[in-house]
Amino acid sequence: MNLPRSAASLTPTEAQRTRALRLLGRRIDAWGARGLREFPWRETREPWAILVAEVLLQQTQAPRIAERYEALLSDLSTPDATVALGKAGVLIRWTGLGYNSRAVRLFLAATMIVERFGGEVPSTREDLLSLPGIGPYTAAAIEVFAYERDRAVYDTNVARVIARAALGASTTAAKGWEVAERMVPPKRGWSYNQALLDLGATICTARNPRCEQCPVASLCQWRRAGYADPDPARQTAGTSRPQGTFKGSAREARGNVVEVLRSGKKSREELIAAVDPTNEARVERAIEGLVRDGIVRVTRSGVALA
Ligand code: SF4
Repeated sequence: MNLPRSAASLTPTEAQRTRALRLLGRRIDAWGARGLREFPWRETREPWAILVAEVLLQQTQAPRIAERYEALLSDLSTPDATVALGKAGVLIRWTGLGYNSRAVRLFLAATMIVERFGGEVPSTREDLLSLPGIGPYTAAAIEVFAYERDRAVYDTNVARVIARAALGASTTAAKGWEVAERMVPPKRGWSYNQALLDLGATICTARNPRCEQCPVASLCQWRRAGYADPDPARQTAGTSRPQGTFKGSAREARGNVVEVLRSGKKSREELIAAVDPTNEARVERAIEGLVRDGIVRVTRSGVALA
């Protein structure tokens, strides 16, 4: 069906959309070229070092990871060294980093890299996705930040910028990825994606975006629409949701059980006394969940890291 002349003239053609997305990508890249945040994982292209960083970054903010990254990487220097530590050894070195299931998945990924890929981190999307704990975002990040491919990475920060600046509307993960891929400037995949992550983390933040300092303010679709309510980032797949209260949560109990076990095996009674003597069932549930996730094991003499 032909659109009426006035409506047709307002609808951007595919070529115009492509040009607009490329311009947005180039503008973000140019902004990043003036100075990215400094992180140790931005100093290397070594695939294992990038993989470790990306697993750490999955649920923790970059500045917090930066404090621990180099020390952790000196212990987990290669997939072989990580396997040699054993799962419990990796969990012990994960102290204070939270989300202990990531430590287990990293150990399992190292094991598969050693057994199936000769100790080298694979470079194809398909092989990366076959590793435990490596989902689409992390696989893309390894391709881009280790192997310098011109592909998109798409995490919560990127999804927010895409929804607001590129689309001015909420979107699905599939559509967001597709738009993100079209924005990558040729031969600039590494630096452009780092800039985009920084833009989402420091300027186009979830709450109170700093639009007056934004390098793409003049191109931002949401801004052009007068910041129409609701914020497009809010309903967009891939943007983070507020987490529940940590205090008193199952996640806190699980973390405390692992913390106590880092000094060695404990009896159930010792664990309950150390974690939550007022709520034995809560500690038992935490132990059960940790066993299911392969983080701890229960023997006749007590409970230990797996
Ligand atoms: S103008 Fe504001 S909302 Fe738009 S991309 Fe920049 S910081 Fe985000």
